[in-house]
Amino acid sequence: MSVNQQAHAGLPYGQPQPGYQGYQQSGYGGQQMSGVHHSQYGVYNGPLPGYQQPAPPQGTLRAPPTSGAPPPTSGASVPAGQPVYSQFGQGDVQNGVATSAVQMQRPSASQPFIPGTAPAPISQPATFQQYGPAPTSAQQLTNHMAGMQIGSSTSAPPPAGLGYGPPTSVPPASGNFTVTGSGLYTSYSSSQGPPPVTMTHGLPPTSLSQGLSLAQPAFSGPPLSAQHRPQAPGFLPPPCSTGIGPSSYPSATGAPRPSAMQGSQLSGQALTGLPTSQPNHVSSPPPHPSMSGPAMTGLQGPPLPTHPSQSGYQMQQNGSFGQVRGPQPNYGSAYPGTPNYGSQPAPPPPPKRLDPDSIPSPIQVIEDDRNNRGSEPFITGVRGQVPPLVTTNFLVKDQGNASPRYIRCTSYNIPCTSDMAKQSQVPLAAVIKPLATLPTDEAPPYLVDHGEPGPIRCNRCKAYMCPFMQFIEGGRRFQCCFCSCVTEVPPHYFQHLDHTGKRVDFYDRPELSLGSYEFLATVSYCKNNKFPNPPAFIFMIDVSYNAVKSGLVRLICEELKSLLDYLPREGNMEESAIRVGFVTYNKVLHFYNVKSSLAQPQMMVVSDVADMFVPLLDGFLVNVNESRTVIVSLLDQIPEMFADTRETETVFAPVIQAGMEALKAAECAGKLFIFHTSLPIAEAPGKLKNRDDRKLINTDKEKTLFQPQTSFYSNLAKDCVAQGCCVDLFLFPNQYLDVATLGVVPYQTGGTIYKYAYFQLETDQERFLNDLRKDVQKEVGFDAVMRVRTSTGIRATDFFGAFYMSNTTDVELAGLDCDKTITVEFRHDDKLSEDSGALLQCALLYTNCAGQRRLRIHNLSLNCCTQLADLYRNCETDTLINFLAKFAYRGVLNNPVKTVRDTLINQCAQILACYRKNCASPSSAGQLILPECMKLLPVYLNCVLKSDVLQPGAEVTTDDRAYIRQLVSSMDVAETNVFFYPRLLPLTKVDVDSDTLPAAIRNSEERLSKGDMYLLENGLNIFVWVGVNVQQGLIQNLFGVSSFNYISSTLSTLPVLENPFSKRVRSIIDMFQAQRSRYMKLIIVKQEDKLEMLFKHFLVEDKSMSGGASYVDFLCHMHKEIRQLLS
Ligand SMILES: [Zn+2]
Repeated sequence: MSVNQQAHAGLPYGQPQPGYQGYQQSGYGGQQMSGVHHSQYGVYNGPLPGYQQPAPPQGTLRAPPTSGAPPPTSGASVPAGQPVYSQFGQGDVQNGVATSAVQMQRPSASQPFIPGTAPAPISQPATFQQYGPAPTSAQQLTNHMAGMQIGSSTSAPPPAGLGYGPPTSVPPASGNFTVTGSGLYTSYSSSQGPPPVTMTHGLPPTSLSQGLSLAQPAFSGPPLSAQHRPQAPGFLPPPCSTGIGPSSYPSATGAPRPSAMQGSQLSGQALTGLPTSQPNHVSSPPPHPSMSGPAMTGLQGPPLPTHPSQSGYQMQQNGSFGQVRGPQPNYGSAYPGTPNYGSQPAPPPPPKRLDPDSIPSPIQVIEDDRNNRGSEPFITGVRGQVPPLVTTNFLVKDQGNASPRYIRCTSYNIPCTSDMAKQSQVPLAAVIKPLATLPTDEAPPYLVDHGEPGPIRCNRCKAYMCPFMQFIEGGRRFQCCFCSCVTEVPPHYFQHLDHTGKRVDFYDRPELSLGSYEFLATVSYCKNNKFPNPPAFIFMIDVSYNAVKSGLVRLICEELKSLLDYLPREGNMEESAIRVGFVTYNKVLHFYNVKSSLAQPQMMVVSDVADMFVPLLDGFLVNVNESRTVIVSLLDQIPEMFADTRETETVFAPVIQAGMEALKAAECAGKLFIFHTSLPIAEAPGKLKNRDDRKLINTDKEKTLFQPQTSFYSNLAKDCVAQGCCVDLFLFPNQYLDVATLGVVPYQTGGTIYKYAYFQLETDQERFLNDLRKDVQKEVGFDAVMRVRTSTGIRATDFFGAFYMSNTTDVELAGLDCDKTITVEFRHDDKLSEDSGALLQCALLYTNCAGQRRLRIHNLSLNCCTQLADLYRNCETDTLINFLAKFAYRGVLNNPVKTVRDTLINQCAQILACYRKNCASPSSAGQLILPECMKLLPVYLNCVLKSDVLQPGAEVTTDDRAYIRQLVSSMDVAETNVFFYPRLLPLTKVDVDSDTLPAAIRNSEERLSKGDMYLLENGLNIFVWVGVNVQQGLIQNLFGVSSFNYISSTLSTLPVLENPFSKRVRSIIDMFQAQRSRYMKLIIVKQEDKLEMLFKHFLVEDKSMSGGASYVDFLCHMHKEIRQLLS
């Protein structure tokens, strides 16, 4: 293992998010509110503290609704069928009928594999090869090309059967897909020989293989002289010495390369890995100085044999070259169908490789953003501002647009026309987290109460009053910023305008001056025109043999006794308004009467599970404080009652039905907490069979693994949504239990799935209990409906996440908690104008934990552009990846996984090719030029492609994949960022006297040192990797044992030791835990131990054992794809 530490030492990757964990929020006026569980809604009596700054320029904060559009009152140009926000049956359609019937794909659930619990494959590396390559055939090539053609179809719908095209598309680059490349990726190109000579651009044939020369025998490119570097920001695709002909490489570097780019100017850091910024011009390995003879002459020198002594050449940067790392040569190749890397039959000479330090580094981008944007508050007054990265710790000041904590967009500058959007292929999407928890130093949304008349809304589209509405006629009317319709201002809401046309009460009203706020909903926003009852929580505990024997039942009952004191409360309420109920079950259900007047709880058994009903009303849902004695007695008795059970079979659907019926009877919304252990095989509705079949992987039937095996649960979910019954599911399987099917109801009701495979009390209880505590206490809105309105020209067409939709516009959520996101894709239905920009308004109607009906409004204004360069300059790659991952993960439900992967690659290649063609200055085709804002797209995309859902390793179970698929669909951008590209910290660099974190390092084995320990987290797991040569003192300090050999890899927590290093490392781990919505399992990995295989799975820049390409290889592949598109 080489020791190649990051050269740079910048700021830490991430910092504690102050207060992210706690729910304490400062109310208006800045006082700390005592409510522990909830956002406090301060009364808005005036301007925000510190909010007295001058109003933002008129043109930015308040965009003219439709400049250049017809006169305000006409509305003639507005498409018919403008939306009316309505609830419960006042159905209407926003912005016209959506063309795509957005039927929610049924999700499935998921879980990360639990490394410690699947030891078998670990010790058998050979099994990892089972997904290895199949011989490439012409047929495969044809199929592949067909797939690409589909991906690149024009705006016509994709052909049936492959309805998995990218959101937008460009015309295919005709014939170019037949051009084959270096043979590296033979599933894309079956050619094993020298690259074809079909290059355009008049470049010599060899240029085709530039950047793809992994299989080329020797490096012979001319060196870059130092004085050329600044002019050669990019990069030299690796010249090759195959004797095909002169490389274009010299000419590419011999002349000063134009440096004007649409992205930021990059200097030649590719060569040296300078700390400030990574190049977005990427090319082949830089020559070693010692090789530099004469400056580039335009012709490549004779091939030089590669020699290990050419140390500067970084041959050993990647383990598959230079120093051999593990069984790499026998791994499956990067793509199915690729026989091997080095495609020559003869033993290939040591190939050349891109210098990993020369290609864009996620760590560098993250650190640059932290340094550049972490110190200033992000003030939302300006339209179309790209926020800092999710990894940057920054303060948000709402001055008219929603905080990026609520909404993030793939681009903050939208192409004016759909043609432009199609050309770029950049998806236009927003990742929305309506109930996001804010840091304590940011004010939660103010609550606006307009009294009896309710919120002010546009007459036509029903958009809510917001900062972009334009008051006219002295304030007597306002013109809607979404549909241009003019609405009378009700007398009680009238206010005079100042000389700028702004209402004089502008700063007194959140709905006029802020991006996010809440309205108190009137009774007309309630079901059946009746204010709702407070919600209820029902705990439903599996008491079958496995659950009892593992100690789970006792654990849950013990925990609930104290946890029930922490039910969510609203504001300063003394106690929670939430009522609770209890059910246990195996093949039958047991309901409990815990009425406060009883001396002991009473059990009622329902054995007719085919027709579920609730045997009691009075006494089932109770107030915790009133019934505390009875509840505690029940929780004491349950483990005893079932201690000797022999019942192994369970039901599942009847449990959900029972909970839903109980809520219905109590006329309230609520949440079911179901603790379940096994495949429900007992005779009952929703009974399932074991249909797991790993042989389906990599076949056309693989998608069935993600689909539910019966439609029963989907229908049940629909009923649950109608009742506002949200289901959270805690799974404790010892074998397959069909997460894809069991997860349907949680998913469609906005619930959450937790999965603890092979649950063991000692090692897993801390994680489970932390998850349970967090889940019970988190803020959640019930019986919710979300609508996203847009200004004329674009509209929401597709939705991703955990919810249900019965029409094309309303996202229905039985529950929506503070960690859930809904991703919305937008498409053009008309031209946009640069003057007006584009506006979004997300309105969420929900019932809070006190039973109060509220509307939460988030507004966001985006810029519009007529130049593609503006689009590429204002993209956010993390959000783009979030969207693409969700898009792909939904795609596997109906498409072969390979098709999904190919589509992703093709779309991203088109995005980058469009940039290259239209925005980058002319340069050698051998150069890979990436937009500054998207220079991490290839590395992150590769992480998505080789994730467990799209390219599972042998240790990943079907349930794991279904679990992760569902998990990712609700993730916010920060979560997907760390999930796909984990955070890796060197522990010996930890400063015990400082709160700052050591600089993160890139996720590659070659970055690890045997003498160091590392912390790796991805939002689901935390690994502590210990090198074999770590100093004994450090081992003693962290593990309390005298040497490496005595470290136990079964530890689930670090021992509590009284020394600064131990304290600091544990505090870092605690901080990471607090930042994530789930408690992460801690896994100790000793170098060269069998668990290391699992750890390496997360070193995502390396080639993966399931066949995923290394970053370097994938970048070369993308380069080839882009060049094919351009030629
Ligand atoms: Zn309107």
